[in-house]
Amino acid sequence: MGRTASASQALSSSTAATTRLDDLRRWMAGRPVGAAYITHPVSIAYLTGFYAEPFERLMALAVRPDSATLIVPAIEHQKASAHSGQADVVSWRDGEDAYALVREALAGCAEVAVEKEHLSVHSAELLASRAGVREMVDAGPEVRRLRRTKSDGEIERLQRAAAITDSAGDEVFARLRAGQTELEVALMLGALIGELGGSLSFESLVQSGPNSALPHIRPTSRRLAAGDFVLIDFGAAFDGYKADSTRMGVVGEPSAKHSEIHQLVLDAHDAAIASVRAGIPAGDVDAAARRVIDTAGYGDRFFHRVGHGIGLEEHEDPSADPGSTMTLEAGMVFTIEPGIYIPGWGGVRIEDDVVVEEGGCRVLTKSDRSLRLIRES
Ligand code: ZN
Ligand code: ZN
Repeated sequence: MGRTASASQALSSSTAATTRLDDLRRWMAGRPVGAAYITHPVSIAYLTGFYAEPFERLMALAVRPDSATLIVPAIEHQKASAHSGQADVVSWRDGEDAYALVREALAGCAEVAVEKEHLSVHSAELLASRAGVREMVDAGPEVRRLRRTKSDGEIERLQRAAAITDSAGDEVFARLRAGQTELEVALMLGALIGELGGSLSFESLVQSGPNSALPHIRPTSRRLAAGDFVLIDFGAAFDGYKADSTRMGVVGEPSAKHSEIHQLVLDAHDAAIASVRAGIPAGDVDAAARRVIDTAGYGDRFFHRVGHGIGLEEHEDPSADPGSTMTLEAGMVFTIEPGIYIPGWGGVRIEDDVVVEEGGCRVLTKSDRSLRLIRES
């Protein structure tokens, strides 16, 4: 996962953020905790509207039943004060003791809810030794649960991100030519996303020829050449919310094998989209795509899950793993991205973002999924 260019944008209105703090407080009320100590920057953004990447510096949100304190490095103080909604902002300068602020924010709380997936062992030990925390309860699943069903406002932002992604992708495929390097294409795509008012969801993947069989390989200096599949996996972010889409092209005339594999992945993609509706387990969506690819004899060449949730992060809940029993609910947003990868030759993946609805789903990314033809000169 790449570091995001959308990092510094404001993420939500303070009204929405106030409600979200109250949602977390409702959860806290049923547990023996005096405070929640939230450290994952995206969780802080979701709960307050303020996002920053603190790197190694301490940044945390202490939520108590009737107050919230956002502890930030001094370099973020001004931005935090403008976007933090209901939380009081306190800051520390390099060289000062950040844990003095933590101790104050958590005063009298021996039992604290933390995000265990995110809090390092080192930080947990400091919470104990410097702030008197004796018991830690995991708040991570609850924060993820709050985030995975999107509000109308969040879906609107996701739709804007998807529209920018569609336009940038169409434009980049129209500009592709044999001889360009994967890196050049990735930079061109980034510039187009910027011109259209978005930022990068993640570093674009541009994979040509045999590289397209390696799902996570970064763009290289390889030049697009006749007979290459070109796989572009990319997304724009809008107001912090991300899109994630994959489209395919071929340089010159597609061979029968290019067309066959592409059509097969398209059929699997259609089957997965047709299966989505509220009330079914996420694993059923994976199974719908996998059935098509298995039947055609390429089952072992589809070696990843069919999709992942998307929102403020490019990978979040729900995960559409094989066998996942998580029940889909209206408002969940996730990708559908079956693929077939043939080592040494090439791979195909087709990816769109969908919002779960009661009787089906709405596809947010809408650009043409057909195999795009790339000119040799
Ligand atoms: Zn993707
Ligand atoms: Zn994806």
